[in-house]
Amino acid sequence: MSFESVLNESEFSTIVLENRSAYEQDLLGFNELLHADYLFLGVKKADKISVLVGFAHDSPISQIEYDLEGSPCETVLLTGACGYKSDICEHFPDDQTLSELNAQAYLGAGLFNENNQDIGLLVAIFNAPKHDIDEWLQVFSLQAKLFSTQLQKDFFAIKTARNLSLIDEISRMSKTGSWEFYPETEKLIWSSETYRIFGLPVGSAINVQKAINSFAPGYTEELTLAFDNLRFHQQPYDIQCKIIDSSGTTRWVRASGKAELCKDGAVKRLFGAFEDITEYKTALTLNEERAMKIQSILNNINDAVLSIDVNGTITHCNDIALKTFGYTRSELIAQSVEILMPEPYASNHAFYMRNYMETGVGKIIGVGRQLPAKRKNGDIFQMELSLSESCDQGERGFIGVIRDISERIEAQDTIYNLAYTDSVTRLRNQQWFHQRFKDLMLRASLKQEYIHILLLDIDNMAQINTRFGFDNGNYAIRKIAEQLLFVIGHDYEIFKYGGDSFVVLSKKTYKKEDLHKFDANLVESALLSPRHFDVVINSVKWSLTASLGSAIFNPQGQSFESIINVIEQAVKRAKRSAPFGLCHISEDGFKEFDRYLDIKSKLEQAIERDELSIVLQPQVTHDGTVSSFEALVRWYSKELGPVSPSEFIPIAEESYAICEIGDIVLRKTLSVISNFVKSGLKTSIAINISARQIVVPDFINSLLSRVKQYGIPPHMLMLELTETALVVDIELVKETMLELARFGFRFSIDDFGTGYSSLAYLKVLPISELKIDKYFVDDIGKDFDGKAAQIVDAIIEMAKALNVTCIAEGVESEEQLKYLIGKGCEKFQGYYFSRPEPEAHWAGINENTKLP
Ligand code: C2E
Ligand code: CA
Ligand code: CA
Repeated sequence: MSFESVLNESEFSTIVLENRSAYEQDLLGFNELLHADYLFLGVKKADKISVLVGFAHDSPISQIEYDLEGSPCETVLLTGACGYKSDICEHFPDDQTLSELNAQAYLGAGLFNENNQDIGLLVAIFNAPKHDIDEWLQVFSLQAKLFSTQLQKDFFAIKTARNLSLIDEISRMSKTGSWEFYPETEKLIWSSETYRIFGLPVGSAINVQKAINSFAPGYTEELTLAFDNLRFHQQPYDIQCKIIDSSGTTRWVRASGKAELCKDGAVKRLFGAFEDITEYKTALTLNEERAMKIQSILNNINDAVLSIDVNGTITHCNDIALKTFGYTRSELIAQSVEILMPEPYASNHAFYMRNYMETGVGKIIGVGRQLPAKRKNGDIFQMELSLSESCDQGERGFIGVIRDISERIEAQDTIYNLAYTDSVTRLRNQQWFHQRFKDLMLRASLKQEYIHILLLDIDNMAQINTRFGFDNGNYAIRKIAEQLLFVIGHDYEIFKYGGDSFVVLSKKTYKKEDLHKFDANLVESALLSPRHFDVVINSVKWSLTASLGSAIFNPQGQSFESIINVIEQAVKRAKRSAPFGLCHISEDGFKEFDRYLDIKSKLEQAIERDELSIVLQPQVTHDGTVSSFEALVRWYSKELGPVSPSEFIPIAEESYAICEIGDIVLRKTLSVISNFVKSGLKTSIAINISARQIVVPDFINSLLSRVKQYGIPPHMLMLELTETALVVDIELVKETMLELARFGFRFSIDDFGTGYSSLAYLKVLPISELKIDKYFVDDIGKDFDGKAAQIVDAIIEMAKALNVTCIAEGVESEEQLKYLIGKGCEKFQGYYFSRPEPEAHWAGINENTKLP
């Protein structure tokens, strides 16, 4: 059934059918007077009338329907109640039902709802004429009105019941019960929900005293007072209080009361509600307890704790936070967290925050960090901050735990001062530098940026020390340190490095694209200014000098040690152009150095793993006859691939490795000669001897024992020495050469023309061959009138004067060959004839083999 506010046809049917027997009784009672043959109640249903209850000859009739059109009922609905004495069928010839019922007389009256709309009919039909019909019509209309009223009464009863049950439902849902009190009768009425809240059976007897007694001690007085104030002063109330229900359970209720007044101002009734707020109160109390517990925990830890919302507004803090930052709670809460930060952190904070909220990427979330913080009085201190994201009842926020570490840092500083300070200059020492440098390298590699490092070494410190004693030496260093410290500027830091050296390190890292803006020369020349090194010792001014190595580099892929190595090498190189030498290492310099280190370290293994071999390049006479060979070393490294001797020999020459390599080449060469001899070939082979090799004390003996070992006559071995090797230790080299010559070894002067040897000097050496360097041979043909050709001519002349063979190396063309032959050069070596090839390549040759 729908919730119409006025009675309509369908509700009319329902009401009648639901109360059928009552309506039948009423109809029967009325018919005892009326004596109609048919008496019924019908409802309008579109253009029909449907009979709901009724009687035919005093027995109930089943539901029937008939058309309104052309029936007397239609007239009733249009014009009002009407009656016909007799011959009704003649009046309404189209009405089938009337004739079927054999009707003579008729009475009809409408049934109305409260809006006076007719929704049904009361009808009586008689089989005989009814002469007093007019008198009956009035009674009949009255009876119809009675039925209408009854129907409406029933309708309102249903509606009220329905509304009440709705109210009940709502109060149950909202846990709100109502009460009414009538002062005149002292009658208290409770709704069912109120009974439930108080734990009493619905409808049981209650009164004001009983109700007030249900409140928990402490609340009884309060409620009595509130109720009296309402009753006598019409003061409404709304209070939260505890009740103890009939089962002894404590409940929280919100009790409210209001007065309704009569027109004369007297109190008509008091009414109000009880709302059960137990659940809400429990949750609230729990929350409060939890908050208090948390606060007490927070106040008992030694760190400052702050929470902020997503806008950076401080929402909570503990007592330590107040103490640490020097604010009162009301000064801090609801302020932006930026007031706790110094610049530039404060200005950047909003940006970081926004970035974090948008991207979820935060630098400091979840990571402890040391940062500067600002107290209310403006003091800046170092704090250790760990920040975590929080979510409190759906609200995002952050909790920061802050520890003031200024004291700890101070303590550490004292220790650092002892361990990391140079006692002479008071500068940070090498250990500190290592630390700083590693940090800086890490920062720079992460950002792919560049660092500038400079190493400054005082040139003649040792002399000062020996001459004036260490105290004066230290004084000099201290003075120099002061000067340097003064000139380096804000972007650099200076450290004492060795006894008489300083490291200057950039504090910042630089982007590659900014390097051109960055003027390394400025620092370099500032550091090397001679006036920093003028010191007065014993009233006399002494001018010291220094050398500087400088490198700007991207540390990615570099080790700390390698960089230190490079910069130390750079200083060594700078020393070569002392005083005030400067060596600037470029990026290529670093790569070269890496390669250098690689080769240096792998060379040892090369020797152990037998990665070295030799190749043989033929030396021919003017008609191409092979007369001898030069043995050239080859290194095929497992890791580095083939490495050229021009690359690794100079590195090997820095250590004893060159001697080991020399020995390997010697043995392999002797083995080749011995194989050649076996096959009847008596060509000699030249080997290259490094300057360092020849000055080794047992060079002569080792050479002798090797030739003996292989049974090779010494004259089959030509020893190639460069001009520069000759001058290393002239006397010693001369003695060695003379000694070896006595045993039959022969000597060739390699790279002739590139060194400083004088004819007079060469005359005393046991030389059998001069080798024109490829450098001069290259120029043949390019410039006939030029110097190159003149030098070639001069060397050939010199060889003739010394009565030694002349050999040209690096011959690549026929033109060069012809020129050399024309000038009287006797032997030739070069790609024009053959490249250096391994032993196997030469297996089939003999004295008559001609090249190319
Ligand atoms: P070097 O003693 O002057 O050797 C001659 C170099 O010139 C060899 O290079 C050779 O391959 C190359 N060469 C010969 N003919 C031509 C030519 O027509 N055109 C061109 N472009 N190059 C030609 P390699 O073998 O690379 O040796 C380079 C240097 O390494 C040698 O110069 C020598 O100083 C050193 N070296 C090679 N083997 C040994 C060795 O066993 N012991 C020592 N101490 N040094 C060696
Ligand atoms: Ca050579
Ligand atoms: Ca050469």
